[in-house]
Amino acid sequence: MFFIAFLCKISYTAHQYFYGYMYKQNGKTMSDHSAKRKIPVAVLGATGSVGQKFIQLLEDHPWFEIHALAASDRSAGKAYHKAVNWFMDSPLPERIAKTEVQACRPSMDCPLVFSALDASVAGDIEEDFARAGYVVVSNARNHRYDAHVPLLIPEVNPDHLQLLAHQPYGKGKIVTNPNCSTTGMVVALKPLMDAFGLDAVQVVTMQALSGAGYPGVSSLDAMDNVIPFIGGEEEKMEKEPLKILGSPENGRVKSADFRVSASCNRVPVVDGHLESVAVRFKSKFTLSDVIAALREFTPEIQKYGLPSSPRNTIHYFEQDHLPQPRLQRNLEGGMAVSVGRVRECSVLDVKFTVLSHNTVRGAAGGAILNAELLKINGLIH
Ligand code: NAP
Repeated sequence: MFFIAFLCKISYTAHQYFYGYMYKQNGKTMSDHSAKRKIPVAVLGATGSVGQKFIQLLEDHPWFEIHALAASDRSAGKAYHKAVNWFMDSPLPERIAKTEVQACRPSMDCPLVFSALDASVAGDIEEDFARAGYVVVSNARNHRYDAHVPLLIPEVNPDHLQLLAHQPYGKGKIVTNPNCSTTGMVVALKPLMDAFGLDAVQVVTMQALSGAGYPGVSSLDAMDNVIPFIGGEEEKMEKEPLKILGSPENGRVKSADFRVSASCNRVPVVDGHLESVAVRFKSKFTLSDVIAALREFTPEIQKYGLPSSPRNTIHYFEQDHLPQPRLQRNLEGGMAVSVGRVRECSVLDVKFTVLSHNTVRGAAGGAILNAELLKINGLIH
């Protein structure tokens, strides 16, 4: 056991060293050289909040390179820098700035598209792309509950990729990631479900403004305030975990059999969803066993050392005042989930606090990790 863990660690470190080396080569020669080997990708909804995060995270990605950008007819035909209100904290890459935004039609010369489309249009557009043979990795909610579409978090349910064989799109595929508020909670629930079984989950969220897209909530509503309603969010948080933590059987997912009650609030934080979670288990537990399960969570995909995979999926904090959005949201590039304040609950069994970055782990970064998992499974041609 120790020897296997040691081998995994060596391979992970070698991988990080290699890609760390690649990322550092900013000279033209290196990027031209590596570009030849990268998979060209398109970003649909490239001008929005999540679309911009895709562009930021895909810049210098070792496996993928942006080939096309698409958005609504309002933006199509314009150079990207004229169509977008760029509000990322890194400069807009020059090559991307000059790229002409296209309409969302499946005529792009690339096998993989990332979708950050508004849900009002994502359903049909994503299906058009899948039918035309593209692999679509989506953030939108439209296809999350389709029987043969994986609702994927690579550390939690990589076995759900088997659903893809049952999709009706031929070479094309659709893979979705969960709602940003579901993702962090489910990552924390996974080791607890494996260790103790889950009977009931109760969650209260404090969700960041960037989760509402751009320009999102007006400043007069957001400042000095908390809004105790986010349309559709509680329904998603109560439904999605049951599919993600369910078991794939004959091309469908048999739902997990616990109940979730969610109360969702919008708070004046820019990025990072903080959640207070209480859980009732099916079997006996001690607080120290619960903490150990969280601390020692080592997902199976860790052994692949995927470029966007955090070294530790869960960071556990002992200090009573952690985790906090401003302090922990960017851990491991925003891909780690932070957990703290594990304690007894006088109504259910145990309660704790979870934090995850909503536009990275909960959206663009999670989708890129999904695509990396598809690639190493030979599903992107
Ligand atoms: P957003 O800022 O409102 O961006 C929406 C994007 O969709 C823009 O690029 C927009 O293009 C494009 N679009 C709108 N109408 C279109 C049409 N008729 N045809 C083609 N493109 C169209 O939204 P967001 O926050 O980035 O969210 C994008 C998706 O990710 C949504 O489905 C959302 O639910 C999901 N999501 C968001 C988060 C988050 O934290 N923000 C987390 C998880 C999932 P124009 O600029 O040309 O209008």
